[in-house]
Amino acid sequence: MKSAHADAMPIAGGTDVMVEINLDRHRPSSIIDLTRIADLATWGIEDGMLRVGAGVTYARIIQELGDRLPGLALASRTVGSPQIRNRGTVGGNLGSASPAGDAHPPLLASGALVELASVGGSRRVPAREFFIGPKRNAMKKDELIAAFLVEPARGPQQFAKVGTRNAMVIAVCSLAVALDPERRHVGTGIGSAAPTPVTADDAERFIEGVLDEGGLWEKPVPVDAKALARFGELVAAAARPIDDVRGTAAYRRHALSVMARRTFGWAWDDYRNRVSA
Ligand SMILES: Cc1cc2nc3c(=O)[nH]c(=O)nc-3n(C[C@H](O)[C@H](O)[C@H](O)COP(=O)(O)OP(=O)(O)OC[C@H]3O[C@@H](n4cnc5c(N)ncnc54)[C@H](O)[C@@H]3O)c2cc1C
Repeated sequence: MKSAHADAMPIAGGTDVMVEINLDRHRPSSIIDLTRIADLATWGIEDGMLRVGAGVTYARIIQELGDRLPGLALASRTVGSPQIRNRGTVGGNLGSASPAGDAHPPLLASGALVELASVGGSRRVPAREFFIGPKRNAMKKDELIAAFLVEPARGPQQFAKVGTRNAMVIAVCSLAVALDPERRHVGTGIGSAAPTPVTADDAERFIEGVLDEGGLWEKPVPVDAKALARFGELVAAAARPIDDVRGTAAYRRHALSVMARRTFGWAWDDYRNRVSA
């Protein structure tokens, strides 16, 4: 159907699509209801990776995958309200590709792949290459998002979000971190502080260097406050925020540096507890 009707708008939970239609921002000539495609609402393990159908809701991520995808589950808990979490899907978040989408930072931090499908076959695009502009993604007109793929968490993961109130709020900015002790990797994902969700590559390399040089993966002691502060600065430097109704660019940078210190600190404490247990 998507191939035959390239302009038709797919609808999953409808929590973005219906807002657009109700506010008359879009009048799609036709829509494709994806909710009856049972495959999209399933998940399973494929070659050691979790393959999660695009139509799996936030509520199910929290209930069914919280142990394997703790970062995404934390982010999912902050999405909207119970009603939105019951209908809204990660596939829909990827489809909208808002810089503020809450699923994006944890998917970036854990190196997820987005599976795109069309009559011509399917391809897997790293989340880092999927977001190509504000509300623009790498999906072609005849493609649909079939699933995302990600390794079950190999270590602690964290997510933090700043909003103008406690719930039902679009992120002013957000940050995810994911530790992978086996690969000695620290992943990051920044939301709502650049034209697209982005990673903080220099910050990742810096903190990985600190952990490696200090032999901290083997002997995990608390990370030095100066190193944490530098990590925060580098995360903030990776953002390209703007002033808007939700916050100023300067506030977003400041909040990111604080969230970076905190989320890494929480994840590292968790890792230390696991090692000493
Ligand atoms: C009150 C309210 C609160 C909200 N709070 C948050 C929040 O806190 N955080 C947050 O990130 N978002 C929030 N949202 C936005 C929305 O809930 C999310 O973006 C959600 O993930 C959208 O999923 P959906 O299944 O409802 O998508 P839909 O509305 O069905 O679709 C969204 C877009 O993706 C496309 N699409 C959907 N599925 C596919 C697919 N399989 N393949 C290709 N394209 C597809 C659609 O064509 C459309 O362009 C909120 C929305 C509302 C109304």
